[in-house]
Amino acid sequence: MSDAPQHERPGPDLQTDRPHPARVYDHIIGGTENFAADRQTAATALRTWPGLRTSMLANRACMHRMARRLAGLGVRQFLDIGAGIPSSPNLHEVVQQTAPEARVVYVDNDPIVLAHARPLLTGAPQGRTAYIQADMRSPAGLWADPALHRTLDLSRPVALMVIAMLQFVEDAHGLVEALLGPLAPGSHLALTIPTADLAPESRRLAEDYTRGGIPMYLRGRAQVERLFTGLDLLEPGVVPIPRWHPAPGEPALPDTATNMYAAAARKP
Ligand code: SAH
Repeated sequence: MSDAPQHERPGPDLQTDRPHPARVYDHIIGGTENFAADRQTAATALRTWPGLRTSMLANRACMHRMARRLAGLGVRQFLDIGAGIPSSPNLHEVVQQTAPEARVVYVDNDPIVLAHARPLLTGAPQGRTAYIQADMRSPAGLWADPALHRTLDLSRPVALMVIAMLQFVEDAHGLVEALLGPLAPGSHLALTIPTADLAPESRRLAEDYTRGGIPMYLRGRAQVERLFTGLDLLEPGVVPIPRWHPAPGEPALPDTATNMYAAAARKP
């Protein structure tokens, strides 16, 4: 009989032999939760476009502004799809500054996010957070998860945050429809999404990711606008991420410094 402690179960298979988007992103923005395969994909991408780090940090900053603004509009429930490896401040920390009672459900399909989810689950005592591991290419599992319903009341408005994630999904339109469909009127969609329209290196970057084993899809402006069909787009509409309500005093980045659009809208 083995003398290994009975309660120790093997951890999830992290498949460290191939790159994963959450870990490549983590490495580029300065995190430590990544492996050689991720760092190799990151190095290739940064050779193609050294500005990628600036763009990723601008994306994170844009997510913070979007979250703060939606909390300011009275939204108290957030569903963060493709949450990524925790990076301070996390979404619940941002929104609970405005509303300590805010509730946040984080979703990702990379098991490494679960392994490091503790910072996502320690929030204001008045609020609540949860983490769900689910693959958004089939969202049925998310809707069936009891942790979702314990944390969010889906009869009330929810802000659906899809931040720098849709580039990893072939049918972005189908996914956004499937996620927004069950949400109550007054819910919001906030997204940032990579495009080839801005930074000229964006297309080659997507080719690097795809060749490295992470298929990446870029969308033009019209495709991004189509994701908001039937929704009331908030000001300033679909814009490069640094132009979405820049914080006063924040240094302005040229449109070619990032590869993402941002937009938010209300479900009538
Ligand atoms: N939203 C975070 C992280 C972006 S990186 C931020 O902007 O800072 C994209 C994230 O989407 C990664 O964490 C990756 O694991 C996740 N992701 C990619 N495809 C996914 C899928 N099919 N289902 C769920 N999550 C996915």
